[in-house]
Amino acid sequence: MKRRDLIKYLSLAPITGAVVGSGVPFRADAATIVKPKRDLINELGIRRFINASGPYTAISASLMHDEVMEAINSSSKGFVMYGEVQDKVGEKIAAICHSEAAMVTAGCSSALLLGTAAALTGMDRNKVAQLPDVENFDKNEVIVQKSHNYGYIHVLNNTGIKKVLVETSEDLEKAISSKTALMYFLNDHTPDGKIKHQEWLAVAKKNNIPTIIDIAADVPPVENLWKFNDMGFDMVCVSGGKAIRGPQSTGILMGRKHLVAAARLSAPPDNKNIGRGMKVNKEEIFGLYAALERYVKQDHEKEWKMWESQVAVIDNAVKKIKGVSTEIVIPPIHNRTPNLSIFWDSASINLTTKQMTENLRDGNPSIEVGIRSASVPSQSGALNITVWMLQPGEEKIVARRIREELLKASVS
Ligand SMILES: *Cc1c(COP(=O)(O)O)cnc(C)c1O
Repeated sequence: MKRRDLIKYLSLAPITGAVVGSGVPFRADAATIVKPKRDLINELGIRRFINASGPYTAISASLMHDEVMEAINSSSKGFVMYGEVQDKVGEKIAAICHSEAAMVTAGCSSALLLGTAAALTGMDRNKVAQLPDVENFDKNEVIVQKSHNYGYIHVLNNTGIKKVLVETSEDLEKAISSKTALMYFLNDHTPDGKIKHQEWLAVAKKNNIPTIIDIAADVPPVENLWKFNDMGFDMVCVSGGKAIRGPQSTGILMGRKHLVAAARLSAPPDNKNIGRGMKVNKEEIFGLYAALERYVKQDHEKEWKMWESQVAVIDNAVKKIKGVSTEIVIPPIHNRTPNLSIFWDSASINLTTKQMTENLRDGNPSIEVGIRSASVPSQSGALNITVWMLQPGEEKIVARRIREELLKASVS
């Protein structure tokens, strides 16, 4: 073990102990405290950091709990039929999330792609084999609100569909035709679209068109896992490796039985399809199930209170510094947990946001934080701190490091 890492382990141990003693729920998994037999992150010289930014793929998103690793390890010791694992785990997930059926996919992205494929092909294996060449399909169009035509929807293009963009209710009525295969909704952009869930669903039902909704990062609240199934969306897609803290490579496609069955034709273990490259191994399927079960059962109110207390620790460490102001922000839909925004004035603190994030990244321990735009022009910097991916006690390290950097750059 390198000296730097030894210091890190030593500095973490007493803090974790204190957290246990104070009655705050103890979340750390043993692997984060006990020195592992072989630590490949250190061995390969890869930077390890505290995640004060959030469950983003580029920074490896979330950490799996012990129960999830147990499910992965125990299921790795035997052979099973892949389809049977999807059947049985799918049934369990469907029961938890109030859907008719479910399958584990390679991330929410793959759920979106396979769900779209299902709407295009149904159970027709000839059609499955033709994707993404859907030129001569009766139905090959997906209707999307302009303001929902954003980012992750790109994955739908892999199926060969043509997007039809609409803004108003009148546009929507006009856009519907015998070529319409699916109506897509991006939950996170609900406030930006003129048409909301209920109207979208009503129009789809009236015209007998299936619907799909992307709720990838919209848990918590936990109820969102079933809310959109209850509301009547035919397919609901969510990430497994964000709030649920399953394997980062997993997601869930849930919804109508016939659509999930059709989606499976475009997925492994079959091979003459567009989804063969989106394999989820059996260990990850079990791992996601264990993570989901744990997530649904956990005390969400207690966790929210813990996040608030972690935010308070950081807030109290910085808010009295001259030129600093803070704000507790709860995003309206995605990543809905308490965040702390920290702003500072250029007149009092001579530090840009970029310098701050680099100093935190290069410090010991290394810390990744989010940034946000300044709210008034006199501010030279603004950070966004997300606490829900912190390990217990790490909020104290984050608080100390940000305070140090702000004080160091203070103009006296
Ligand atoms: C993260 C995200 C996705 C992709 O989810 P993965 O599980 O990483 O595939 C899709 N849509 C939205 C809105 C997201 O936030």
